[in-house]
Amino acid sequence: MSMKIGLMLPKLEKVPSAKENKDTTSWLAEYWNLGPEVGSDRPGSNKEYWTEMAKVWNTEEDKARRQLCANCEYFSDTPRVLKSLEAVPYNEMDATGGGRGFCSRFDFICHNLRTCQAWESNDPMCDEEGED
Ligand code: SF4
Repeated sequence: MSMKIGLMLPKLEKVPSAKENKDTTSWLAEYWNLGPEVGSDRPGSNKEYWTEMAKVWNTEEDKARRQLCANCEYFSDTPRVLKSLEAVPYNEMDATGGGRGFCSRFDFICHNLRTCQAWESNDPMCDEEGED
């Protein structure tokens, strides 16, 4: 009996329309601190944003900076998912986010270099703050 590995991967139920995606992005930026607007992995970048997120998560700024969509448990950027997302035209958020992924918590396109306050670690070996 053969096993289909694809069945074990998270499923992308529905690709949002461009409008749904934009509306969700705006709502998350307003109510869930989705950001930063211009993603960057340079140390010290977006200081104001990461200082705020450190407060939100009650942690230090350097730890907050490591909690990215890219390593959130709700994030998926498998080739299959990225192919599905190609149906949604690129917008200004794609230009500065460091690469697309799908957020299964909020059903929209998020990006490697951003985060939001609903972040959860995807690493089973880490504690709640993403630390070993
Ligand atoms: S829930 Fe996770 S993947 Fe979704 S926007 Fe927030 S940090 Fe990114």
